[in-house]
Amino acid sequence: HNDSFAYPIRPDLMDWTIDHYPGLQGNVAPTVLDIGCGFGGLTMALGKILPPEARILGMEIRAKVTEYVRLRIVAARKEGPLYQNCSVLRTNSMKFLPNFFAAASLDKLFFCFPDPHFKRKNHPRRIVSERLLSEYAHVLKPTIGRLYCITDVEELHQWHVAKCDAHPLFRRLTVKEEANDPCIEAMIHETEEGKKVARQGGKKYHAVYERIPDADAP
Ligand code: SAM
Repeated sequence: HNDSFAYPIRPDLMDWTIDHYPGLQGNVAPTVLDIGCGFGGLTMALGKILPPEARILGMEIRAKVTEYVRLRIVAARKEGPLYQNCSVLRTNSMKFLPNFFAAASLDKLFFCFPDPHFKRKNHPRRIVSERLLSEYAHVLKPTIGRLYCITDVEELHQWHVAKCDAHPLFRRLTVKEEANDPCIEAMIHETEEGKKVARQGGKKYHAVYERIPDADAP
């Protein structure tokens, strides 16, 4: 993963038209990110569940996997009107998120079955961390912005919950609130990793957080 990635120096300099949403009007930026999207099962499922105004972007660091998802979307677009609002981008999301996305521009961030980085010395490489949660809070829209995490590693789930609970800009959804969000079922069932865990009879743990307003907001 040590090769370089192209990225804009500011979000407003990013062109989303040609490579990402050629079927949409204007240069419209994504509103929903599937971070570490892998083979893109959730990215595509969200294209069906969410309204067409949502722009979904899978983000993936592996070149071959990204290309697989790109071709999957190209093929699915030929089958019918759906998926004009789905795309995939190869990048290191732990480095470049603020380059691509403006403050308060995103509705949803998904972290599905992220790499666990079990060893303590590798915990700083986890994709949900104190520092990165502040970046995630920055790009999410206050009040309606949501952050979704799911994993089959119980210890990692506890880490997600501990980090998000401790962050002043996130509040965990209640069970009732979760029941009203169809994206949660999709996150549990539609990713390739989630399907593998289900086949192997493994458990899945999830948590969903709302981006609360800044303390000094009016
Ligand atoms: N979310 C998918 C799923 O549930 O099927 C894939 C899960 S897989 C275990 C984790 C994925 O995150 C891998 O495809 C990996 O390449 C990707 N990844 C890891 N670090 C990343 C980073 N910094 N930026 C973007 N993608 C990353």
